[in-house]
Amino acid sequence: MFRAILLEKTGDSFSAAVRELEDDALERHAADGDVTVRIGHSTLNYKDGLAIANRSPVVRRWPMVPGIDGAGVVEASTHPHWKAGDRVVLNGWGVGESHWGCLAGRARLRGDWLVPLPAALDARRAMAIGTAGYTAMLCVTALQEQGVKAGDGEILVTGAAGGVGSVAIALLAGRGYRAVASTGRLGEADYLRSLGAAEVIDRAALSAPGKPLQKERWAGVVDAVGSHTLANACAQTRYRGVVVACGLAQGMDLPGSVAPFILRGVRLVGIDSVMCPMPERRAAWQRLADELDLGRLDAMTTGIGLADAIPMATEILAGRVRGRLVVDVDR
Ligand code: NDP
Repeated sequence: MFRAILLEKTGDSFSAAVRELEDDALERHAADGDVTVRIGHSTLNYKDGLAIANRSPVVRRWPMVPGIDGAGVVEASTHPHWKAGDRVVLNGWGVGESHWGCLAGRARLRGDWLVPLPAALDARRAMAIGTAGYTAMLCVTALQEQGVKAGDGEILVTGAAGGVGSVAIALLAGRGYRAVASTGRLGEADYLRSLGAAEVIDRAALSAPGKPLQKERWAGVVDAVGSHTLANACAQTRYRGVVVACGLAQGMDLPGSVAPFILRGVRLVGIDSVMCPMPERRAAWQRLADELDLGRLDAMTTGIGLADAIPMATEILAGRVRGRLVVDVDR
């Protein structure tokens, strides 16, 4: 037996609860998996919040165990690259959406989806990073690959007190960039500065409809928010600057104009972590292990038990979670 959050839907009735499941449930509901992982820790991302609160069509099959992220130890494997005892981390690939996920004591996953857990990280810290942190690394890497250097000017980080934003600030500061945190929670200014933010601004300055071209300020942007915030960020980006878009906390729309792209040569780069190819994923995890200040990571992390993930789903969707939530699946 193992414990898991189980999401069930019949007609209009939806439920999310912690259940004791038989081991053979994984054979029935995760039949395409070839590696059984004893999950040590999972986490609650924004997308897990959507799934657990039944807010948007994240879940594609019912019943579903949510949890797009997991870290733990291989128990059994028929995959040639993995054996019992290997430490692994899993992010995305539709896990927790169309394949049973990691908010559970056990998961049956495909070996092709797994990344070796870097030696410097344990399962708890890997999940403190989670998809949010790994996406933040993909964003920061994209900025650098597009040629934005530390001395080029300020980097705007939106949704700063959330998961992607918190890790992005710590990574940018660690690489010597001047990160400017945009937040709706100015009471978290000290927290954001402790992560390395050089300045904290009120997100209200970005979240309302704005002009197509505004005063140039940002050399680069990491945007977790979308909608008017992303449109305004593009409109304020300096000549040939780079805007990296990964999220939709304000909205999925992009109500802007092409003016920043065709008149200032601004580049807009999209980031998807879910289907990101394996070499980039492994590189991102290794860089996270090498670079991320563990003191800052711990400072942005709150630990919760499995059952706590259910009420916290609505909290993360309401933007009331600071930094990262790590779920101890045995608690
Ligand atoms: P969090 O909920 O931890 O953070 C989101 C933050 O956005 C909030 O903390 C808040 O920050 C801000 N925010 C919330 N609501 C609004 C609003 N209405 N208007 C403006 N800002 C708002 O989520 P994550 O950091 O885990 O994820 C952030 C986004 O990135 C989500 O949309 C998620 O779906 C997406 N994402 C995408 C991935 C990809 O592969 N492309 C992977 C991971 C995440 P503050 O209080 O500081 O203003």
